[in-house]
Amino acid sequence: MATYNPKSLKAEEFINDGEILATLEYAEQNKHNAALIDRILAKARPQKTEKGCVCQGLTHREASVLLACDIPEKVEEIYRIAEEIKLAFYGNRIVMFAPLYLSNYCVNGCLYCPYHMSNKHITRKKLTQEEVRQEVIALQDMGHKRLAIEAGEDPVQNPIEYILECIRTIYGINHKNGAIRRVNVNIAATTVDNYRRLKEAGIGTYILFQETYHKKSYLELHPTGPKHDYDYHAEAMDRAMEGGIDDVGLGVLFGLEMYKYEFAGLIIHAEHLEAVHGVGPHTISIPRVKHADDIDPDVFDNSIPDDMFAKIIACIRLAVPYTGMIISTRESQEVREQALRLGISQVSGASRTSVGGYTEKERPHDSEQFDVSDQRSLDEVVHWLMQNGHIPSFCTACYREGRTGDRFMSLCKTGQILNCCHPNALMTLTEYLVDYASEETRKTGFALIEQELSKIPNEKVRTTAARNIADIKHSNRRDFRF
Ligand code: SAM
Repeated sequence: MATYNPKSLKAEEFINDGEILATLEYAEQNKHNAALIDRILAKARPQKTEKGCVCQGLTHREASVLLACDIPEKVEEIYRIAEEIKLAFYGNRIVMFAPLYLSNYCVNGCLYCPYHMSNKHITRKKLTQEEVRQEVIALQDMGHKRLAIEAGEDPVQNPIEYILECIRTIYGINHKNGAIRRVNVNIAATTVDNYRRLKEAGIGTYILFQETYHKKSYLELHPTGPKHDYDYHAEAMDRAMEGGIDDVGLGVLFGLEMYKYEFAGLIIHAEHLEAVHGVGPHTISIPRVKHADDIDPDVFDNSIPDDMFAKIIACIRLAVPYTGMIISTRESQEVREQALRLGISQVSGASRTSVGGYTEKERPHDSEQFDVSDQRSLDEVVHWLMQNGHIPSFCTACYREGRTGDRFMSLCKTGQILNCCHPNALMTLTEYLVDYASEETRKTGFALIEQELSKIPNEKVRTTAARNIADIKHSNRRDFRF
């Protein structure tokens, strides 16, 4: 039996089943241990120091105790601390993005995904470069600046050269005042060499969901195709980092396996990246299995109710305070509203999960990856966020200024976010409001920006931001950043 070693590069040692099971037992035994829970909560709380706010985070064992704990006042405290951390490190900014589906050709047999190879009735599509252009123009016309490209795994239809060509096309399109300034990539696990090529193509985050950390279930859920190889999949982030990508995004597909197991696996994976590469994951996504063509989510009997989903988000926030958290349009407006308070820092808006979906007038369903719950327009999502006290941000500055990996983390840890991310958020929001928003959203947004400008502590930064905002409003000058 493999022994647990967070520094190992072997999947069975760093995501160690024995350690996860021991963690779950420890959590179960201590879930009513009020003294221990109080100590864990005290550790999780942000501390004010001379250098600003700092947060220690939690180990997978500590975080698992909190997740198991069902003492109502302690659970309330978890939620309170999650909100505190969110505000301390991310402020009220919410980064906006949209997925762009390039191809749904896939040679895998994933039981939860409609792209699985034996699904004969889904329409298979792969965008040509001209179609990529049209999709990107449609996304730019909504106001998007950040995309996550998605593709099934098919070495013949979607080889790495195709993905790289699409990235070049996307970055090359400047339509009116629009531009896609950051392309994140969610494609199948690949080689160090291919990760290096993705890095050279200028990608932002490489995202890959583990789907489930439970190896036995993983093998059953991925019966055929290259994705069947659990170890190759789990070790992908190490290869990505070896290839020079220092922003990686983790995730599990909640509903496939027991959530407590997945939660421990996720935090253990984050600890592993920190232990080996000196930097944790840039983001964590928390998708839940949804209905899709040929997929009935009820077949998987580990679905989690909304209140447990909220608790998972809050506990992730406490465990890895500096990691961004993403919620997609798989979730409804109501669920997203609660999740935003508990630590989410990125949301998608106006997503279409079908290949070629953005150029269609009506939402197409024939090639969708899953049903989208939140079907509002980007303008509606932006307006809703602002009405709830958030600042929608279209900022992509960090990665373009080379603040990735540990450099981004140190910005976060030294509390410089208010002098950097905050003004960047306000400037990019101004771009959105001037170029794309409805009259009502624009009015709400300009009032919010006026209020928020005064929160920038550094006077010079504040004056420059105000000047740039005026410039954006009165000229075609764009893309200011700190
Ligand atoms: N082919 C790549 C891979 O294997 O990782 C890209 C993944 S796919 C385009 C993006 C993600 O969608 C998957 O990792 C999976 O977690 C999620 N997904 C698949 N089927 C889903 C469903 N029925 N409901 C919700 N999410 C789903």
